[in-house]
Amino acid sequence: MTKPDWIVIGAGVIGLSAAWALAQDGQRVEVVEASRVGDGTSSKAAGMLLPEVESVHSSQLFPMAAESLALYPAWVSALEGASGQAVGYAATGCLVLAEAKAFSKTWPGLPASLGSDLAAAQSGLAAGLAGCYLPNGAQVDPPLLMAALQTACLKAGVTIREHAAVTEIRRVADRWLGITAGQDRLVANHYLLATGAWTSELTAELDVDLGIFPVKGQMVELKAPVDALSAILFGPGVYLCQKQDGRVLVGATSERVGFDLAVSEQAVADLLTRAAKLLPVVASWPIQRSWAGLRPGREGLPVIEAISQNALAAVGHYRNGILLAPLTAARLCELARQIA
Ligand SMILES: Cc1cc2nc3c(=O)[nH]c(=O)nc-3n(C[C@H](O)[C@H](O)[C@H](O)COP(=O)(O)OP(=O)(O)OC[C@H]3O[C@@H](n4cnc5c(N)ncnc54)[C@H](O)[C@@H]3O)c2cc1C
Repeated sequence: MTKPDWIVIGAGVIGLSAAWALAQDGQRVEVVEASRVGDGTSSKAAGMLLPEVESVHSSQLFPMAAESLALYPAWVSALEGASGQAVGYAATGCLVLAEAKAFSKTWPGLPASLGSDLAAAQSGLAAGLAGCYLPNGAQVDPPLLMAALQTACLKAGVTIREHAAVTEIRRVADRWLGITAGQDRLVANHYLLATGAWTSELTAELDVDLGIFPVKGQMVELKAPVDALSAILFGPGVYLCQKQDGRVLVGATSERVGFDLAVSEQAVADLLTRAAKLLPVVASWPIQRSWAGLRPGREGLPVIEAISQNALAAVGHYRNGILLAPLTAARLCELARQIA
């Protein structure tokens, strides 16, 4: 292959969304991935697209999150068209829940607007809850999303090199000259760092600290009747979202414990207890799987910017990389045109 215009390091949702967008912009793109597409964090996410709920954690995030959500329907439609694969996008809305007496403290800024309509919004809810319905909440199915992005990238001419961990970035002054990925020394005109929670391992040798740290999230998957949930249910310390084939994801812990991916029985039990406090029938749904993923944590907003003359970074999407992918890809394309 002739020298690519871009090497993208990391085949998560951010790296592949960017690679696909750059390829659509006429760029020759190669992606290098330490493991396999999506195996970092992106395929382990719940896939919820909830700007209002997430802004309770970070108020700075709302404008960006809302802008990205607005891009989602057209982005999904283009992606499904390009790949021929569905991504499980569903505008299901979200029911934000808490004990009635604690609602305003748990969800500052959200009104407990549903009152006696709560039972109509979702059958089987526990007694004593208050709720607020967010109609624009939506979701995708992350493994399907990653598979579709991989296909769309390949069809657009992107080369994806898996099991090729980047161990070295060669530079002179402010210019990247090449990288070592697996056994190979690779060279491109431009580079994009999209290495998620592992970014600091790679940037330790560079004079850049992007402030990324891993935040572990444990999740449980239950087998439930299809259409058991009428919306995403989001309560204190727990959420439940149902995918189109019936799987219900119950998540997620939030732990600053480094690169640990172990699942603990205690965490699973705690998540299920909290879930059953919202919807008691959950206790009867069998557990299918559980796993842990590492969010690319960062204080403040994600980094989407140039970090050298010919390298961009898109990292630190923390709890919202799936939600922010379309906007991040669009912003990266603008930056790419500026440094081309
Ligand atoms: C339990 C859980 C639930 C979540 N739920 C949601 C949700 O509902 N909605 C939402 O929007 N977000 C959610 N998130 C957050 C979301 O998953 C992340 O923000 C997103 O996946 C980050 O994408 P990324 O591409 O930056 O990172 P990743 O998907 O981790 O991709 C980075 C890739 O870089 C590769 N890499 C790292 N170092 C190197 C190297 N040296 N060389 C080559 N490759 C390298 C990794 O192997 C990895 O594949 C959740 C996360 C977790 C853990």
